[in-house]
Amino acid sequence: MDIPKEVKDIMQALEKAGHETYAVGGCVRDLLRGIAPKDWDVATSAKPEEVQKLFPDSFYENTFGTVGIKTSDADKTFSVVEVTTFRIEESYSDKRHPDGVKFTKNIEEDLARRDFTMNAIALASQETKKIIDPYGGQEDIKLKLIRAVGDPERRFAEDALRMMRAVRFASELGFSIEPSTFEAIKKNSAWLKRISQERIRDELEKLIMANGAPDGVRLLEGAGLLPYIMPELQEGVGVDQNLHHIYNVFEHNVRALAYAVRKKYDFVVRLASLLHDVGKPRSKRGEGRNSTFYGHDVIGAHATEELLKRLRFPQKTIEKVALLVRYHLFYYNVGEVTESSVRRLLKNVGPENIEDLVRVREADRIGSGVPKAVPYKLRHFQFMVEKVSKDPISTSMLAIDGNDVMRILESGPGPKVGLVLNALLGEVLEDPKKNTVEYLTGRTKEFGSRAAEDLKKYLEMKEKKIQEEEEIMKKKYYV
Ligand code: ATP
Ligand code: MG
Repeated sequence: MDIPKEVKDIMQALEKAGHETYAVGGCVRDLLRGIAPKDWDVATSAKPEEVQKLFPDSFYENTFGTVGIKTSDADKTFSVVEVTTFRIEESYSDKRHPDGVKFTKNIEEDLARRDFTMNAIALASQETKKIIDPYGGQEDIKLKLIRAVGDPERRFAEDALRMMRAVRFASELGFSIEPSTFEAIKKNSAWLKRISQERIRDELEKLIMANGAPDGVRLLEGAGLLPYIMPELQEGVGVDQNLHHIYNVFEHNVRALAYAVRKKYDFVVRLASLLHDVGKPRSKRGEGRNSTFYGHDVIGAHATEELLKRLRFPQKTIEKVALLVRYHLFYYNVGEVTESSVRRLLKNVGPENIEDLVRVREADRIGSGVPKAVPYKLRHFQFMVEKVSKDPISTSMLAIDGNDVMRILESGPGPKVGLVLNALLGEVLEDPKKNTVEYLTGRTKEFGSRAAEDLKKYLEMKEKKIQEEEEIMKKKYYV
């Protein structure tokens, strides 16, 4: 159990100047668990100005007394050590922000404001390796218990996010939540309403990336926190499915996530797996073996978008997760799936997202608990994707472009140019052999002779027909 030299140097410089100094928080917890900490937090009796004077290179990160000090660490696992002055948080009248921050000279007072006993242990740099552990954190780490420092209900009243942090740590560390701490969460879960979506999002992201994420999501549900984080996912609790499934909607979603976690897929694929059937509760018709969920892909994509927007995820994340949810039912039955339908899917999903879409589909299949023996169908689908991968799937890949269209029609720019290009694309998606200057020139003349309004209606009708055909196919396989 050792503090790395770069961190020790900083701590010892502070100690030499007469300031009491400790490593605290997650790094000490990880060290005691025999795991290499990913970052280092140092607490000191020195005021921020005094810390800055000792380290001229340092930067003051915020107004809460944290000074960042760059380390000499060569492989950059911890390029910055955060040094924070011992502090007491005063009362939290709004259950999320302390009304004020007061510095103190007393490490015990600093430890008292921390969330869980395992996070409230201080470790000195001196050779004595002095440990200050007023709340039995070391014992709780041995017992693998997450226990609030002091009275759990009071601590959650101060900052309701701590309830979610308890579940997040449980998922990351494989610990359980000590019973009275857990009871306090269950009783007061609604306090989470007062916490900003950004703080909730950051904890959720860590939870989803944890190895214990599936149990973490179940625990959010069991603790009553889920309705204040992802109410759309909560809707699936207890909603039974049909003959294709043995789990209810919520459990199936969680099991799809479990597959994505086992495969160590990225955040977007994990989230899309967890949310892929989020539209089922709202689309369920009938009961029992023959109940149906028509349209749950479209409903689910909308719900996903709303949910992730509310949590202030970046636009790119929102769009991709919603896209994967929207198309997770893509059709890939050998013999029935046509090359043109694969081209249309590529156009809608984007070739760059196909691999992730297949991952989500596989998560869906394995997460059903009764995976039919069809992996070869997916392989066949991937073969089809490969086969059509060079075919044109966007107007920019057509043999003629907007300028050609204007030249052929002897017209200037306007909405009609785009409509003609889309009409041409429709034909080329059907049959890529039609992507020649000669053929498209002829078709441009024909489409160009129609009024723009007319052309628009024609395109909409065609699109509707394709969708209806796909809907009929999907109905047979909507699971
Ligand atoms: P990790 O960085 O691995 O997620 P950590 O324990 O370092 O875990 P941080 O969120 O970085 O967690 O917080 C550092 C320390 O600050 C915690 O160990 C805890 O002592 C304290 N802390 C953080 N957030 C809170 C909070 N909301 N309430 C009370 N103490 C907190
Ligand atoms: Mg940390």
